[in-house]
Amino acid sequence: RPIKSHVDSVFESGCRDVLEEAKKTRANAAFVVLTRNSELQGVLSSMKSMERHFNQWFNYPWIFLNDERFTLQFKKEVRKVSSGKVKFGVIPNLRWHMPAEKSDPIEFSEAIEEQGDRGIMYGSMPAYHRMCRFYSGYFFDHNLVQKLDWYWRVEPDVDFYCDITYDPFREMEAHGKKYGFTVMIKELLNTVPNLFRYTLAYSKKNNITLPDSWSLFAKDFDFVRGVNEQYYRDIGKKEQFWSRLQQRIPLLRAQQSLKENKDELDEYSLKALSSLSNPSRLRNVPRDRFDNFEYNLCHFWSNFEIARTDIFRSKEYRDYFEFLEQSGGFYVERWGDAPIHSLALGLFLNQSEIHYFRDVGYRHSTLRHCPLNSPHQLEYQRSPRYTNGYGKSEEEYWTNYDKPLEDPDIGTGCRCSC
Ligand code: GDP
Ligand code: MN
Repeated sequence: RPIKSHVDSVFESGCRDVLEEAKKTRANAAFVVLTRNSELQGVLSSMKSMERHFNQWFNYPWIFLNDERFTLQFKKEVRKVSSGKVKFGVIPNLRWHMPAEKSDPIEFSEAIEEQGDRGIMYGSMPAYHRMCRFYSGYFFDHNLVQKLDWYWRVEPDVDFYCDITYDPFREMEAHGKKYGFTVMIKELLNTVPNLFRYTLAYSKKNNITLPDSWSLFAKDFDFVRGVNEQYYRDIGKKEQFWSRLQQRIPLLRAQQSLKENKDELDEYSLKALSSLSNPSRLRNVPRDRFDNFEYNLCHFWSNFEIARTDIFRSKEYRDYFEFLEQSGGFYVERWGDAPIHSLALGLFLNQSEIHYFRDVGYRHSTLRHCPLNSPHQLEYQRSPRYTNGYGKSEEEYWTNYDKPLEDPDIGTGCRCSC
């Protein structure tokens, strides 16, 4: 029985006969893993989890990308674990490095160093900036990925907790879905102080009619609210919902006061446009103020993505990326590929084309999503090692462990063990 939610329905609640499912034809799809040689152990661990819970039946190929050559050992070990074909690609220098590294090396390294001084997460690491830019603007053009209709992004050190007994690519295709996620979290404000402003400026410059999915990112947590309302309805505690949302998301209040100032928003997006022709670009922009205005900082956590490649190969997306690139934000700020992918969906896709894989149990680093029908769900929720993705310290989460998750699930997994 499919469970209806405010967001969208799962493709299956529970398990299918996976051997029957495996008889169907495959999509033109692969796993895509950007990684370093040094991350081999984490890669093997992710692969084993994926093979055990999904790919042992479906045998999709694995594509590995790197800015350096993969070692023989890396290739050998990875081949041992895969049940599908394996391909290895090197990223051309021109795609990995940013133009500013050559044209303006001093500005480039100063900008990055300065972000380290300001304590911005990963801000001082040029490689991290390159990685975010690559996943924002170029992964879909790599010759191994170019041939695909669909990709499933995988990172080292992730766990899948439930059996996935249907083909998500085919199922998405059948339901008109183009982008799928399993965790939605809030971005750190200081990594993207001007991203939303530029995004808005882009949409104005191009007279984009914003689709309904824009509200996922631009209004007062419509999306999170939708998920939570469903949850509280299910457990009969809707009352608690609003008070907790208020307590836990002070930003909501900040946004309300800023919203009253729409004229200012326009003024700022105009400034963003004019700063593009200014050589010092974002450097002249004050960074101590809240420049995201209506951006709620929500985004799909992009280390897990199942999506069509043509979202990013469209002319509009390429234009959007180029606009962002011109601003210098990939090095003057530390824009992540996750908020960029998400805001692009807000610009170009309808909400009905986005799928919430609430049935996919998933962990990366200390964040995880677990369907509520997993036998160990409660214990897991109480573990101090795991947070729910809203930037709480481990200690803080431990003392608040009995509070419901921001992204609760109503229990749709198959044989979960999280
Ligand atoms: P986090 O998940 O945000 O902490 O970031 P990660 O360090 O996991 O990086 C995200 C992805 O990009 C992972 O799959 C990494 O293996 C990959 N990655 C990050 N930096 C580099 C790099 O310099 N070279 C290569 N080849 N891969 C990288
Ligand atoms: Mn990672």
